[in-house]
Amino acid sequence: MKVGIILVGTEMLNGAMIDTNSIYISEVLNRYAVEIEFKMIVRDIESEIIKAIDYAKKNVDLLIMSGGLGPTIDDITKAAIGKYLNLPLIVEDEEMEELRVKFKNINLPFIKSNIKQIEKPVGAISFKNDVGMAPAMYIDDIVAFPGIPKELYNMFPKFIEWYSKKKNFRIDHIYIKDILTYGLGESILDDMVKDLFTEGKIHYEFLVKSHGTIVRLQSFFNNKQNVEKVVKKIYDKIGDYIFGEDNDTLEEVLVKLLLEKNLTVSTGESCTGGLIASKIIGISGASKVYKEGFVTYSNEAKEKYLSVNAETLSKYGAVSEETAIEMVTGLHSDTGIATTGIAGPLSDETNKPVGLVYIAVKVKDKISVKKYNFNGDRNRIRIRSTLNGIFDLIKLLKN
Ligand code: ATP
Ligand code: MG
Repeated sequence: MKVGIILVGTEMLNGAMIDTNSIYISEVLNRYAVEIEFKMIVRDIESEIIKAIDYAKKNVDLLIMSGGLGPTIDDITKAAIGKYLNLPLIVEDEEMEELRVKFKNINLPFIKSNIKQIEKPVGAISFKNDVGMAPAMYIDDIVAFPGIPKELYNMFPKFIEWYSKKKNFRIDHIYIKDILTYGLGESILDDMVKDLFTEGKIHYEFLVKSHGTIVRLQSFFNNKQNVEKVVKKIYDKIGDYIFGEDNDTLEEVLVKLLLEKNLTVSTGESCTGGLIASKIIGISGASKVYKEGFVTYSNEAKEKYLSVNAETLSKYGAVSEETAIEMVTGLHSDTGIATTGIAGPLSDETNKPVGLVYIAVKVKDKISVKKYNFNGDRNRIRIRSTLNGIFDLIKLLKN
């Protein structure tokens, strides 16, 4: 089956807004083994929407649209569909009543222009919108959703369930395994694992994300065992760099490990300024493992809260292996993470290079310290330090 996507909205063509709806649609359809032939972004101009619909109808079996179902003057998607199909727009009594109730429930007056949200070409089928006003509508292999992402997420699964039954294609055709790695560049990773991709009928790809590089293996469900065979080989080869699978995050994996091992964690942060603490505390269950955190940005704070020696600071500087070790030692919990570095754009009085960061982690008496030279701006260096700090502790906990 061929599918095309049309996103309606001038705001996505003048740089004011990024289209994320098509990414969501693509991800869902990928799991149904449905490939997208094209996506198009068009302005809120009726003739242009009609031109796009015409192109889609001539080239694909199903057209998925999003945007322009609302009550305002620029919301013209359904009118364009009606015009293209030569069908008048109608309003169903039942939907009118539902819309009135929705307005009543949120204590808003019902203004006449809102009726537009339930207009549809005669013969169209609606999908109920549980999180907003305008329902999605389907007619003649064209389906249109509101632009607001949460409304699309609410109705798209209902639609695809219904459509897959109607057209007789199977759900969960596809098996996807994401191996989440951290700490290896894409090319090194590729070099290390490329010889393992021996099984047939598996699609391999590398996805570089801010939180690491994903090795994705994708196949049909009946080939799952072969995928798992390759996955095992990948673990054997680069297990040290793998922190999780599928939707795991570094901080989630860390909290899970600490819970399993019944260990507490604290943080002593200089250049990351609380980012590590915030990541850990963002995970449910953190209260059972996270003890305390210190943002020790000045030398005085490092001495006062983490018992770093004044001599260490004057002899080696705040950004040094020695200071990082004393910072993590000064944390009173089973495990800990300490960061000290130069996030830039200016260096400190010692003229050490921007991006130089020392990260020390500990598990009981075991301490590991690493020197990093990150590149990028201040924000990027702080984020890299945060993720590396969490990953370094995960690694030490696993050993
Ligand atoms: P509304 O009832 O809010 O008018 P609508 O169906 O008419 O909904 P639009 O007016 O096109 O939708 O878009 C509403 C908002 O949804 C936009 O301001 C934008 O923030 C978001 N949006 C629209 N299209 C997309 C898209 N493709 N990706 C992500 N966000 C989008
Ligand atoms: Mg709108």
